[in-house]
Amino acid sequence: VAELEHLSYSITHDMRAPLRAIQSFGGILQEEAGHCLNEETQGYLTRMRTAANRMDALIRDVFNYSKLVREELALQPTDVSQLVRGIVETYPMFHPPKAQVEVDPNLPLVLGNEAALTQCFSNLIDNAVKFVKPGQTPKVRVSGELKDGFVRIYVTDNGIGIPKDLQSKIFGMFQRLSSSTEGTGVGLAIVRKATERMGGRVGLESESGQGSRFWIDLKPAPPPAS
Ligand code: ADP
Repeated sequence: VAELEHLSYSITHDMRAPLRAIQSFGGILQEEAGHCLNEETQGYLTRMRTAANRMDALIRDVFNYSKLVREELALQPTDVSQLVRGIVETYPMFHPPKAQVEVDPNLPLVLGNEAALTQCFSNLIDNAVKFVKPGQTPKVRVSGELKDGFVRIYVTDNGIGIPKDLQSKIFGMFQRLSSSTEGTGVGLAIVRKATERMGGRVGLESESGQGSRFWIDLKPAPPPAS
């Protein structure tokens, strides 16, 4: 396992170094020689840099995914309300006027891994504010309940929704419903893998055009010893 871990780290590292060269020399070329190029050739340079950035994001996401598969996740009682509020505070794109994200203050404590939960909720809220109709202010609510022995946490949005026939697919690697956004299609695969590694499961309810409600089931924290 240590050998695999090392291999995966060095592949990632060695793949990113040449990419950095393409990104940075592409940038320098555009800055210093851009004025010598016509619109068409400028466009090629921009496309080359966009592709390099995309490859970089893919490598990073696949590495994060493989880390989740390999590493043991230690579980501890975690306050999801506090964790999610921390995430929302960190990212300006989750604040008004860009978006409204509301977090229930008293979500039941779960047995989870803080780093993995942070990845899950960052990805879910990021998607919830990203996939809205143009001009619409994203409204997101994070709520929860006890259900079938699990704590079910919902992330509900007012976005574009997801057609029924595609709902089972989008938790797969590289699955995106539209190629126009800059995402890699790995975010929800990470959410699923992380949740499964914590002993939980994921799902969603959505009608096309009516917003989506993603949920993750997590183990409840054991009652405190008295
Ligand atoms: P990414 O966001 O990087 O494209 P994800 O795995 O996070 O990849 O999501 C996969 C796809 O599922 C997205 O590209 C989008 O088409 C769809 N999707 C995810 N979340 C939502 C949402 N809240 N509302 C509508 N569509 C969504």
